[in-house]
Amino acid sequence: MTTPRATVRCPECDLEETFSKLATARICIEEHREETGHDPEWELGRFAPGVEKMGDQAGVCGIPTSK
Ligand SMILES: [Zn+2]
Repeated sequence: MTTPRATVRCPECDLEETFSKLATARICIEEHREETGHDPEWELGRFAPGVEKMGDQAGVCGIPTSK
């Protein structure tokens, strides 16, 4: 029911785009790497209410949330 979402960010050029499909986000990352040589990263599942809290407790995703 929830739609997977990914936010792609690049620390080197402030690229920031949100995708509703992980495949699209992955393509964006790969293309950006090829075009610029940068190393963009993505954040997953930060949009649905409750998910972040549950993820915090379960330790899922393995994505660091601290800055
Ligand atoms: Zn970049």
